[in-house]
Amino acid sequence: MVEIKDDIYAHTRGESIILRLVCTECGNHITDYQKDGPGPLKRMYVDRIHDEEAVRAYEIDKKLCCSQCGLMLGLGYRYEKEDRPAYRMFEYAVEPMENSRFYTK
Ligand SMILES: [Zn+2]
Repeated sequence: MVEIKDDIYAHTRGESIILRLVCTECGNHITDYQKDGPGPLKRMYVDRIHDEEAVRAYEIDKKLCCSQCGLMLGLGYRYEKEDRPAYRMFEYAVEPMENSRFYTK
């Protein structure tokens, strides 16, 4: 059962979906992620990341790597506009698993 966050960010951006993200290099499951609104995945907000390990990596050294192949997936920073901790994702580092889009509204 996937828990959906329904807050101001979800409301202002439109449709929310849960993506099951995998490493493009080795196919390892990285995390499930709630994406609010359309468009490519350029950043991942920490408060939308479901995998505890990926959240902890932000707290430790702000580097998100694949635990299986070591590929660097994203770098942590603070998204100033909303003052939210986030990862800036490297292009093509992660992709949604096929049929992994769970629409929430
Ligand atoms: Zn990998």
